[in-house]
Amino acid sequence: MASPPMGKLSPMEFLVSAFELLAAGPICDTCLGRRFAKLGKGLTNPERGRAIRVIWAMYGGGEPIEPGRCWVCDGALSRAEEHARRALELVRGYEFETFLFGVHLSPYHEAVEDFLKKRFPSPWAEPLQRDINRALGQAFERALSAEGRTARVDFRHPHVRFTVDLWRGGIDVYIAPAYFYGRYRKLVRGIPQTHWPCRECRGKGCPRCNYTGKMYPTSVEELILSAFLEACEGEGGHLHGAGREDVDARMLGRGRPFVVEVERPRRRTVDLAAIAARINREAAGRVEVLDLRPAPPDLVRKVKDLKAKKRYRARISLAAPVEEGAFREALGELVGEIHQRTPTRVRHRRADLVRVRRVYEASGELVSPTEAEVEILCDGGLYVKELVSGDEGGTRPSLTELLGVEARVTELDVLDVLDDL
Ligand SMILES: [Zn+2]
Ligand SMILES: [Zn+2]
Repeated sequence: MASPPMGKLSPMEFLVSAFELLAAGPICDTCLGRRFAKLGKGLTNPERGRAIRVIWAMYGGGEPIEPGRCWVCDGALSRAEEHARRALELVRGYEFETFLFGVHLSPYHEAVEDFLKKRFPSPWAEPLQRDINRALGQAFERALSAEGRTARVDFRHPHVRFTVDLWRGGIDVYIAPAYFYGRYRKLVRGIPQTHWPCRECRGKGCPRCNYTGKMYPTSVEELILSAFLEACEGEGGHLHGAGREDVDARMLGRGRPFVVEVERPRRRTVDLAAIAARINREAAGRVEVLDLRPAPPDLVRKVKDLKAKKRYRARISLAAPVEEGAFREALGELVGEIHQRTPTRVRHRRADLVRVRRVYEASGELVSPTEAEVEILCDGGLYVKELVSGDEGGTRPSLTELLGVEARVTELDVLDVLDDL
């Protein structure tokens, strides 16, 4: 017969330490079994505790009856049902498919855990917290199923997360946001991506902003968010864009990826086609959304860190007449590595450093001796206005430098964001 997997201790030694613990005071099956949680696959801690108690009885230790109270958990395990019922009341009216319980132990429990470690050391023990979490989770599932509902435990991104404080007896709930992926097209100039507080009054309201507190009457975020907030019955939200175009640039083509985050949503299953239709109707001619779908929480980071190539179209004004041949030659020389210092216009809010970015394609033509239209394919994060103007030597090479004539962008469109989201 194969010997049981008990490390260095023999079966007798494991039983001896179990009997010592049994003799120390009234202990419930769960707390008894938990000291040997790593022995016996497929068993629960109450089953382990029960088995030990039965063997103890057969050795003459008295009837195998579980005591009504337990000095280890001090009744915390038997109060799981009550905590679970209170937890369910806290999320009444909220849609969720996944949940998680956590506990803060009381000082008494902390002291008992320490005492057990010293006085009854066991290489097979589990922490008390784990049994309480488990008991709470199971009690919560029972309370749900009594109402004909189900939900499952999710350790990474639960929709609702409860924290039970065994010391103060309170329960806190955290309702995780709902996330949705999409892409937006901005069909007009003059709309920022996100709400932009007035520079004068910082949002309080003043004559400069006509008491709106805003630099611009609306934003892509505001035009998109309200339909989501209403459908999800959320309490607030954000639009996280994969980069952002300038206020005066349009965003065309397949649009720019974004993730909408809705805080404390009461609904998570929503009709995205209806939301898209509503946004596209209410923001018609200004902003359009496409490709809406539910998103995992990690997509926010992915979208924000996205380094996708972009294709731009720029209208350019030249300070002096330029010949077609010279213009084409300068555009050709723009392809390659660009060393770009943080532009003067954003240096107040971005770290001042020199980045190396690449231009992959540059084509276009003069529409008059002092005006041109070009298309540029380049790395994400390259500032195209400065690529053209040179930004007083901050961007090199630049069209201004290559032409020997001052050039500046008068209109800019993002034609495509080349991502694989
Ligand atoms: Zn107990
Ligand atoms: Zn103001």
